[in-house]
Amino acid sequence: MSAITKIQVDGARLSKALAAIPRTRSMWIGGKEVDAGGERIERRSPAHGALVTTVPRGQTKDAEAAIGAAQSAFDNGPWPHETASNRSRVLLKTADLIERDAETLALLDTLESGKPITQARSEIAGAADIWRYAAALARELHGDSYASLGRDRLGFVLREPIGVVTMITPWNFPFLIVSQKLPFALAAGCTCVVKPSEMTSSSTLHLAHLLAEAGLPEGVCNVVTGYGPEIGAPLTADDRVDMISFTGSTAVGKKAMAAASQTLKKVSMELGGKNPQIIYPDADMDAALDAATFGAYFNAGECCNAGSRLLLHEGIADEFLKQLSARAEDVRVGDPLDPETLVGAIISPDHLCKIQSQIGAARAAGADIRTGGDQLASVGYFLKPTVVANVRPEMAIARDEVFGPVVSALTFKTTGEAIGLANNVGYGLSAGVWSRDIDTATAVARGVRAGTVWINTFMDGTPELPFGGYKQSGLGRELGRNAVADYTEEKTIHMHNGPRTSWWAARAKTA
Ligand code: NAD
Repeated sequence: MSAITKIQVDGARLSKALAAIPRTRSMWIGGKEVDAGGERIERRSPAHGALVTTVPRGQTKDAEAAIGAAQSAFDNGPWPHETASNRSRVLLKTADLIERDAETLALLDTLESGKPITQARSEIAGAADIWRYAAALARELHGDSYASLGRDRLGFVLREPIGVVTMITPWNFPFLIVSQKLPFALAAGCTCVVKPSEMTSSSTLHLAHLLAEAGLPEGVCNVVTGYGPEIGAPLTADDRVDMISFTGSTAVGKKAMAAASQTLKKVSMELGGKNPQIIYPDADMDAALDAATFGAYFNAGECCNAGSRLLLHEGIADEFLKQLSARAEDVRVGDPLDPETLVGAIISPDHLCKIQSQIGAARAAGADIRTGGDQLASVGYFLKPTVVANVRPEMAIARDEVFGPVVSALTFKTTGEAIGLANNVGYGLSAGVWSRDIDTATAVARGVRAGTVWINTFMDGTPELPFGGYKQSGLGRELGRNAVADYTEEKTIHMHNGPRTSWWAARAKTA
């Protein structure tokens, strides 16, 4: 069992980090700071227990004001008609400002979410890269034309910004996820209202200030804060909103879609996952073990892409699980501000309880907890990396998203069985296959119903490649070369040239 039993946090390092960040923020509506004037939401570090930030607990009227500002900026403002060159310039400047303020942004995400600081730094760097990718796509957005319709007809297909877009984001990758949406919508010429998670709002509020500094006109990007049912729900129902881009749980995504259906808004949904890593005996075992450990415990498993199901060939399962358990026990769980830490804190005590009850239910159903399962002594909320073996496909631990540092292992004999197990859940976000045999690897990659399949690697990402889910993991794709076009409507212009040559009804005779 894991050598670590207790998490020590460094008080001096925490004080220095708290001194380096903005501690209270207002909402950002119509190019101004707006305070709800009422209650505020206090966010404590889930690793240290200390108060980190406070943000307004916004209500329906704040959502309505933000949608009004976005609508006015869309109807009257320059942004939807701005040249691609100027839009791209604002996005590039924003990327530079993100890099300038990278340490502030990383500290905000680390202190509010409990993720390791080195990881937060690389997420901010990755986000800046996405803003630059969107800036490049902005200049490539174009429609189509048809000169093949006859001498007297021309057809044009314009791509116009879809309008007002609301964006609702989760707590697990606060800055990265808003950066997978906002720069592409802005590149298309849309105006936006963003609602980050109530637990991790500050880096998104900081971004609103950076956008203003980069020259984004007032009202084009608005940020509201608060709880989902209070200020998120109005953003999904208001008839002035043209599109919703939501990332979060499948359960809340379904509610947002139901609300959007009343006014037939376009929806883009990035939801949960129960992603398999399928491991064959001919794999590079060291690399597969490292990827299984990384896939399960990166971001404390609070990751839509977590490799939370291992499908192991029966010939290697026992040895693989022995070695995986040893690696799980060696993973550095600790103070997220410590640059050596690989796994930080769980987001909240409620979420920790939920994870532990799922582990308890697996044990009660006959699964075997090989390592982990226990909370670590600390002022914060830490859980030991956990390996669950003897899992059967019908168990909840094999089907439901745990969203914690917990991996469950099942075994297979044939490729057909592996694909069947991989597809035997309601989700289809991503999957990994480990084999040196090209036929095996490609058969699995083509057979698994998931938006991304990694072969001999796991959780690699780059803005050029689209990301999104099959089945209940979502609807639509983010990133990739169509990412800006997703925020547009197509308009057909069908034009007649020259004198009319055919008539629907006989022409009246003229003298
Ligand atoms: P969540 O669904 O609880 O919350 C997501 C957002 O929705 C938050 O901002 C929340 O305040 C808001 N919300 C809650 N109720 C709402 C309502 N009725 N109307 C409108 N908005 C509402 O998710 P979470 O716990 O913040 O994040 C974890 C989930 O996100 C996991 O299921 C994870 O798999 C998923 N996720 C998916 C991706 C992806 O790209 N597919 C990425 C990250 C996270």
